[in-house]
Amino acid sequence: LPNRALFGDRMAQAITYAQRYGHSVWVAFIDLDNFKLVNDSEGHQSGDELLCTIGARLSACIGDGDTVARLGGDEFLLLMPDTDGRAMAILLERVLDAVGAPVALGKQLFTVTCSIGVSVYPNDGIEPQQLLKHADIAMYRAKEAGRNQIQFYEEAMHTRIAERTMIEAELRHALPRNELSLQYQPKLDLRSGAVIGMEALLRWHHPTMGMVSPARFIGVAEETGMIVAIGRWVLRAACAQNKKWQNAGLAPLRVAVNLSARQFRDPALASEILAALSDSGLEAQYLELELTESLMMHNVGEAVAVVEQLKALGIALSIDDFGTGYSSLAYLKQFPVDYLKIDQSFVREMLTEPKVAAIVRSVLALGHSLGFKVIAEGVETEAQLAYLRRHGCDEIQGYYFSRPLMPDAFAELLRQERGLPPPHCEARPHQTLLLLDDEPSTRAALKRLFRPDGYQVLTAETAAQAFDLLALHP
Ligand code: C2E
Ligand code: MG
Ligand code: MG
Repeated sequence: LPNRALFGDRMAQAITYAQRYGHSVWVAFIDLDNFKLVNDSEGHQSGDELLCTIGARLSACIGDGDTVARLGGDEFLLLMPDTDGRAMAILLERVLDAVGAPVALGKQLFTVTCSIGVSVYPNDGIEPQQLLKHADIAMYRAKEAGRNQIQFYEEAMHTRIAERTMIEAELRHALPRNELSLQYQPKLDLRSGAVIGMEALLRWHHPTMGMVSPARFIGVAEETGMIVAIGRWVLRAACAQNKKWQNAGLAPLRVAVNLSARQFRDPALASEILAALSDSGLEAQYLELELTESLMMHNVGEAVAVVEQLKALGIALSIDDFGTGYSSLAYLKQFPVDYLKIDQSFVREMLTEPKVAAIVRSVLALGHSLGFKVIAEGVETEAQLAYLRRHGCDEIQGYYFSRPLMPDAFAELLRQERGLPPPHCEARPHQTLLLLDDEPSTRAALKRLFRPDGYQVLTAETAAQAFDLLALHP
């Protein structure tokens, strides 16, 4: 296949023609999604064979005036002048299917998918370099959006990439310039109402960008590998802060630290945790790690070994954002974790969506029958709290009790021994009636009608209010 240089020549030529005859030219950047897996597991010779097969399939998909080139590695390019109004998008779909068809290597069948980014002359650029760059950006978007798909370049993608590049450049200085800090959000026990731990949440205060939220930079830190150094800092800072609170005479609590996939796969993880504990003097029982499902289910055999190793250190473990990743229930039982953490997206909708409520109750039942405790995050209202409490949730965390706090504010909260009010007394002699009507006069009339019969009458004007009342009253 042609290489990058020859592809460049053909592009220049195609653009000259397109200019003259007024048609468009499509440039597609193709990157295989899981080539490395085949290469690593089956060896380079099989990898080469696979690339040849894909190259031949690409050539078979396109027309006479088109060009397929190999950029290197598992990257290919297509150049397709739209001279006679062909159905270009359908052609690309065909490319996607052709690449994704199984390939026989030795006795085994392999399936490699690809991500395709497309830029079109003249809309997305008039220079070859620009078109290539924009097709490349669109290809990254296709990867981000879940791979095995086609994405067309859009101006907004450029803005996002630009922001990403800036975050990446600035994040490199964040640690040396002391721009990172931790906030702490209390975790509460639903039976006693007391604060029984806290989650350390990373904050980045940038001199010009202001407070940058973890959602904007954790992903970048992951991809660039910076998360390893940042994560090490978080672990040490959280252990040191916790020990400091204990030394100041506050009730000893467990601090939870979020762990990224990259850190989880780092062979030095256990020794770094031990170092963070011994340098700070914190006992292992006062440290907890929050892992995500996807991180653990990726390579289960190894993950179980890592989790067992961490568990053996004496620290607590929880599965964060439970229900949003892909969990294998068969594997779940193999992990010696302490907590399932119900994701906040479920908590947000559980009072208005019966199916979400069913998921929450099922996670509680599942967690408890597997011997885990269950904590719910993102609890913002009294009604959510009451519902979780009624269904046996063990712990909660959320804005309802407290937002993440600066260390001093957190210490103050502990000193005041603030907690949740005890649960409502459930022993109610009455039967309760919930009336929903948007007419105040109707509500008042019905209330008068039923009260003499001994009902406790609750009234709501909107469905949302009614759901909250349902959650608050048994
Ligand atoms: P997470 O671990 O699931 O943390 C919970 C997030 O929900 C936090 O967002 C927290 O501030 C927010 N939150 C807590 N209560 C409520 C509530 O009642 N309502 C709503 N709407 N949100 C609530 P934050 O601090 O922006 O962190 C976002 C994510 O970034 C975290 O999700 C975690 O995955 C990641 N992250 C934060 N710190 C670290 C860190 O030190 N290391 C790593 N690897 N990831 C971190
Ligand atoms: Mg977390
Ligand atoms: Mg979470």
